[in-house]
Amino acid sequence: MPDNLPQEIDRLRTRMQSFIEEVLVPAEAGVDPSAPIPTEVQQSVREASKAHGFFFMTQPAEFGGRPEGTLALTMLRETLSAANTRLAGCVFGPGPGMLHAATGPLRENYLEPVMRGEKRGAFGFTEPDTAARPTWAVLSNDTLTVTGQKSYVTGGATADFISVLVNVEQEDGSKAGTAMVVIDREAPGVTIDREFSSMEGGGHVSMKFDGVRVPVANVIGKIGEGMPRALGNIGNVRLMVSAQATGMSMWAIDFVEHHLRAPHRTGTPLGEREGVRLRFADMRIETYAARSALYRTARLAETDANIVNETIATKVFCTEVAGRVVDTAVQLVGGQALVVGHPLERLYRNVRSLRLVEGASDLLRINLVKGKLELGKGTL
Ligand SMILES: Cc1cc2nc3c(=O)[nH]c(=O)nc-3n(C[C@H](O)[C@H](O)[C@H](O)COP(=O)(O)OP(=O)(O)OC[C@H]3O[C@@H](n4cnc5c(N)ncnc54)[C@H](O)[C@@H]3O)c2cc1C
Repeated sequence: MPDNLPQEIDRLRTRMQSFIEEVLVPAEAGVDPSAPIPTEVQQSVREASKAHGFFFMTQPAEFGGRPEGTLALTMLRETLSAANTRLAGCVFGPGPGMLHAATGPLRENYLEPVMRGEKRGAFGFTEPDTAARPTWAVLSNDTLTVTGQKSYVTGGATADFISVLVNVEQEDGSKAGTAMVVIDREAPGVTIDREFSSMEGGGHVSMKFDGVRVPVANVIGKIGEGMPRALGNIGNVRLMVSAQATGMSMWAIDFVEHHLRAPHRTGTPLGEREGVRLRFADMRIETYAARSALYRTARLAETDANIVNETIATKVFCTEVAGRVVDTAVQLVGGQALVVGHPLERLYRNVRSLRLVEGASDLLRINLVKGKLELGKGTL
């Protein structure tokens, strides 16, 4: 086991495994695998998660949460992902995300309602390739006038607000830096021009901002801090994605192990063939290395260390390993793995987006090297 966790975190893992067996598995068993999960099933899982205490583990104490550290949360997320359940997203309550340090009206109007479960936010970062210029805002007195577009906003159709990265300029055109600005989805000038879904089932929109007037109080932090704030939040999410990826690899390994032990039409279980064993060995070796990186970075995240580089390396490695492991699992199981509704078919669709979300692998590679060669940073 690469994780070698303190006893109290190991006990948490046992609790999560029981929760999966006793709550998630039965709840999912009654749902058609090709249909969306009914709202009442999702709600019942949320209630059960509250009763078991998991729901509050991603929430700050000041909002009634009982927060766990990064190492514990990483383990819990990996364990959930290793169950390959569609209900994993109902287990944890909403976290503050990049609004965590919000004060004044931003806290009152957005952060507090989010933590009460009354409002939901989305994240507008990615720009379309066709845009004449990236989304910008003109600062005049206490108002920002935002113009531009974002091409891939997950949950944007139903969100109450979007945290949008903008380039701010003064009225005379001089640059004031980037800012993350909270914009109400229903604000005048905000339009959704396309709704679409991606292969893993996520729902997204592309949206336009046409002279949207936003009070400066809706800037998260300060003008000039937009990019670091967006990337700071992405850093946390990258570790979550890494845990999701290693959990997927673990599930695929378990599934393939059963398959290799089962009877095969040739009369010999596949697990007795050396060529198949080699493939299975690679799945296990790569997953071991990915989990080692994941738990090392999660431990570092609990220190004061700057772990931007470690998080990038972990995200790239864990998601790419998961892609190879799930692909090999499909290959070893054969055509049945691709039948719609088969758990590997869903996993194959789910794993693909991980190498793009929160930073495409090659862009992260380039950032890692830029940090070293041009800024002299990054120990790894
Ligand atoms: C399921 C899903 C959910 C998403 N949700 C959101 C969301 O909520 N909010 C949001 O803002 N975005 C979201 N995105 C968008 C995601 O962040 C982007 O897809 C991702 O950052 C890559 O950007 P892009 O699609 O514009 O591709 P591009 O940036 O065009 O990159 C495409 C490819 O080109 C190559 N490339 C690009 N630039 C370079 C370079 N400088 N050097 C070398 N190679 C390069 C790489 O191979 C890269 O993978 C989501 C995407 C997915 C798949």
